[in-house]
Amino acid sequence: MTYTITSNCIGCQRCLSACPTAAIAVDGAQVRINESRCNQCADSFSVPQCWAICPTSNGCIEAIATTTPDYWETWFATYAHIVQRLRKTAKPQYWNAWFDRYAATLNQLQGNGPVTP
Ligand code: SF4
Ligand code: SF4
Repeated sequence: MTYTITSNCIGCQRCLSACPTAAIAVDGAQVRINESRCNQCADSFSVPQCWAICPTSNGCIEAIATTTPDYWETWFATYAHIVQRLRKTAKPQYWNAWFDRYAATLNQLQGNGPVTP
């Protein structure tokens, strides 16, 4: 699975510097993700950094299936996006701690490592 930018993009270009693999570039009047460079932020982050930093709330960056869709990957990405929005509103410290704990538990359920105490 990789990510793509939809027509809802407002062209703010925040995602360009957020991408750890330099997969995002301006192509004419559009911002695009180079699928061959996008690694879904899997090496270093629990959520796609382009998705996390995007200021829109209208599905600007979408996951697209390039292999068999994975239920938990899709579920987690959707959930993480919602929590990311909550972090920017009330009680950010509460949500940060809650989300970190939840992400660790979900990683353990996905077989990616132990749950941290
Ligand atoms: S951060 Fe979102 S709105 Fe801004 S350029 Fe990237 S995809 Fe478009
Ligand atoms: S998912 Fe990560 S690697 Fe892929 S375009 Fe977004 S920020 Fe870059």
